Amino acid sequence: MRKGKIIVLSAPSGSGKSTIINRLMDNPSLNLRFSISATSRQPRGNENNGKEYYFLTQDEFKEKVDKDEFVEWEEVYAGTCYGTLKSEVTRITESEYSNLIMDIDVKGALNVKQKFGESALTIFIMPPSIEALEKRLRNRSTDTEESINKRLSKAEYEMQFSQEFDIIIVNDNLDEAVNSVTKAIKNYIECN
Ligand code: ADP
Ligand code: 5GP
Repeated sequence: MRKGKIIVLSAPSGSGKSTIINRLMDNPSLNLRFSISATSRQPRGNENNGKEYYFLTQDEFKEKVDKDEFVEWEEVYAGTCYGTLKSEVTRITESEYSNLIMDIDVKGALNVKQKFGESALTIFIMPPSIEALEKRLRNRSTDTEESINKRLSKAEYEMQFSQEFDIIIVNDNLDEAVNSVTKAIKNYIECN
């Protein structure tokens, strides 16, 4: 029996999704657990296996795909795969009375919605404009010029899918965006 609900956040890189998720995780009334994805990319900085991601080799990732162990998976960047393990969803939504929050790409989010229907709420975090997005990516100072350009051109593609999400929230003022996402999640949890 599924006890918890699934909340999925997607956004073009630099929109503020991680910042918003961190704020939501600090709100005990939402009772959220972060869904740890598997990825074939290398850990970055202080990332630890089993905390930010389950880090797998390409072969290990492929083996799990072949064994049908993923709810969804995507090659988000060329040669780098990310996916949500079935075991992760079961672990949280069937064994605890908490809600699972996923930070996954646009296609992954729509696949989760297709699989879980009313048991999942999909939220698209929209930047106020492409210019603002570019500024945030530059201010974050974590990406090379090439990476910024790759993320910006992908952003326009991703934004085309925004209408397919249950809710779109513009992250212009951060506090307002966090409030809107919080209200949407509370409303969803209480009414479903
Ligand atoms: P994402 O997870 O979507 O890639 P981040 O959460 O890393 O994005 O945010 C990208 C940058 O934008 C960070 O430096 C963050 O502090 C900043 N940021 C987030 N929300 C806002 C906002 N509403 N206004 C201005 N800057 C923001
Ligand atoms: P990063 O490498 O910056 O941590 O993440 C890159 C992208 O992969 C982000 O857009 C993130 O939302 C997406 N992502 C992370 N985990 C998953 C997952 O399990 N499935 C899918 N489809 N995308 C994911």
